[in-house]
Amino acid sequence: MFKKVLIANRGEIALRVYRACRELGIQTVAVYSSADQDLMHVKLADESVCIGPANPRDSYLNIPAIIAAAEITDADAIHPGYGFLAENDDFAERVQESGFAFIGPNAKTIRLMGDKVSAIEAMKKAKVPTVPGSDGPLGNDSKTNIKLASKIGYPVIIKAAGGGGGRGMRVVPSEATLLNAISMTKQEAAAAFGNDKLYMEKFLQNPRHIEIQILADSHGNAVYLGERDCSMQRRHQKVIEEAPAPGITEKQRKDIGERCAKACVKMGYTGAGTFEFLYEDGEFYFIEMNTRVQVEHPVTEMITGIDIVREQISVAAGEKLSVKQSDIKLTGHAIECRINAEDAKTFLPSPGLIAMFHAPGGPGIRVDSHIYSGYTVPPNYDSLIAKLIAYGETRDVAIARMCNALDEIHIEGIKTNTALHRKLMNDEHFKEGGTNIHYLEEKLSLKK
Ligand code: ADP
Repeated sequence: MFKKVLIANRGEIALRVYRACRELGIQTVAVYSSADQDLMHVKLADESVCIGPANPRDSYLNIPAIIAAAEITDADAIHPGYGFLAENDDFAERVQESGFAFIGPNAKTIRLMGDKVSAIEAMKKAKVPTVPGSDGPLGNDSKTNIKLASKIGYPVIIKAAGGGGGRGMRVVPSEATLLNAISMTKQEAAAAFGNDKLYMEKFLQNPRHIEIQILADSHGNAVYLGERDCSMQRRHQKVIEEAPAPGITEKQRKDIGERCAKACVKMGYTGAGTFEFLYEDGEFYFIEMNTRVQVEHPVTEMITGIDIVREQISVAAGEKLSVKQSDIKLTGHAIECRINAEDAKTFLPSPGLIAMFHAPGGPGIRVDSHIYSGYTVPPNYDSLIAKLIAYGETRDVAIARMCNALDEIHIEGIKTNTALHRKLMNDEHFKEGGTNIHYLEEKLSLKK
């Protein structure tokens, strides 16, 4: 096992990694920007190194500074968390070339999944269902593209192979705007991602977002930990996640889960990973794979009892997974609300001093958060300040506990979106379960 792990991230996920390391008896190194010296995990870690100014480009995305920090502190491994460099194949490569273990899959796999066209090709080979679409990248021939779109059937969506964060895609309702949409998306993709490769997919009208969590080791073992429903989204950003997904049968779970686990073995995937799907009319359609731990991993931990971050670390150290598929049982239901420092109505960020913070508690409540009374939320980063997770033996119990927790949580000094979560927990369609990815935006626009 590793002796010392450098945590190349900030906020709640850095604290989460710190906690897993401590449980495993591993020393920790926190790296932080000059805006982040007051972060909880920076205070708690065995060592800490300032890696640059507040701008992420100069600190959390600064590969030489992070490698230098690992060298100075004599760390064995680097955990990238999520966001920042977590899915950067060059970073993974540099980490390994510098003699450290990267806590995640190898650079080649990150690269394969980072290009959505090659990711979809790999999925097809592994018999993971994908969205009907172009077989590979789009060419420049207009006639061929028009033919392809009518074969797929309108509406179609043009997507950039290198896209991410909900950017680099355009929905095309009919042939009239197809060629224009292709050339516009191509230009945008070249400018935004330095890669103008595009592909075409059928645009699904009312899907849900359902994803499969997997874990894989370097001994050829891979398991699936069931699914999460992350359909409650605003601007492609997840707001609430839950596990299991309402209405998914044991047979569906097993079928799609086994395909994902097999795909991992085939690709030589190691660590934690998520296969993201759109789900419509009982069918799963792969859209992308995240080669890292996700924000919403706790809901899966709550219903499986498996510590995903601990598995990530031990697998990176060359150990076998601690569980076999037959050991994994889903029990109860878990829901996560992302608490953001933002105005509940305008969604504008609300950084600043937290004058007072009181965390909720009680049966089944978990709070993953780095904030505390007297902490100042800097304006430079993501507005996620806490993840509130409620577990119950049934979905109704989880919702009831979440309602209690949302009433108990108290954050003074900055604005947060807890009021929105309270509203959603009492929303009749959410309570029924199974709302699609447009539901939240439709609900919000009706209120305006
Ligand atoms: P990103 O990496 O930018 O998040 P994704 O491929 O995961 O890109 O897609 C982001 C979101 O865009 C999806 O969650 C979904 O809301 C929408 N989307 C993408 N592809 C399709 C599609 N074929 N049909 C309908 N919606 C889609």
